[in-house]
Amino acid sequence: MTTIEGNLQQVRERLKRACALAERDVSAVSLLAVSKTFDADAVCLALAAGQHAFGENYVQEGTEKITALRVLRPDAALQWHCIGPLQSNKSRPVAEQFDWVQSVDRLKIAQRLSEQRPIDLPALQVCLQVNVDGGANKSGVTPEGLAELAAAVASLPRLRLRGLMCIPEPAPDFETQRGLFLRAKVLFDQLNAQGMGLDTLSMGMSDDLEAAVAAGSTMVRVGRGVFGSRPAKVTSTA
Ligand SMILES: *Cc1c(COP(=O)(O)O)cnc(C)c1O
Repeated sequence: MTTIEGNLQQVRERLKRACALAERDVSAVSLLAVSKTFDADAVCLALAAGQHAFGENYVQEGTEKITALRVLRPDAALQWHCIGPLQSNKSRPVAEQFDWVQSVDRLKIAQRLSEQRPIDLPALQVCLQVNVDGGANKSGVTPEGLAELAAAVASLPRLRLRGLMCIPEPAPDFETQRGLFLRAKVLFDQLNAQGMGLDTLSMGMSDDLEAAVAAGSTMVRVGRGVFGSRPAKVTSTA
């Protein structure tokens, strides 16, 4: 068994336990493997272990890996999620190459992605990143601005609004962490009460996926837990 295969098994076990504790069906929570800083070979190993959805933070690194995988595994049905901060001048490769974008936090970016999404591809699947703990210099729409942004994004022709994504600060204990995730869950439920029809609440990472599942996450994004530790500092700015 490869290390990545063993890691994936462990993460799936954690998800299973977390779902059991939360009295949720394990099929209600999907796993996004965050492959940023890891190479195409690592993605191939995860793929061989049954993982098909991958998350990338940096546009250039992500599009290079997507291209590499098309060559290495032309028949594999891979799903690529852009989860990093987006700059408008780099929206085109994202619109052209990725299947999902989880980090949309302003209308201008959403409009560009919709305009740039190639007509022969399905609509780009989108989550709005929401800043649930008010960190001043963090990405994400404020809870106050969320409903208006959601309505505007939902009306764009080449995007399909699927849900919310959040990255709260690490908290010292499980209950505090769960409380932060619950803020996103409340916002998610409010939008659905208004008829938005969202099905994706993307929250929880290697260190806090149990708290996220307890709060209603439907997708956890796990990097280190699947691929191992990353270099301390990422040099790419793309
Ligand atoms: C890096 C990253 C992750 C994965 O983090 P790990 O701690 O390695 O699991 C998840 N989501 C986002 C947005 C990230 O940037």
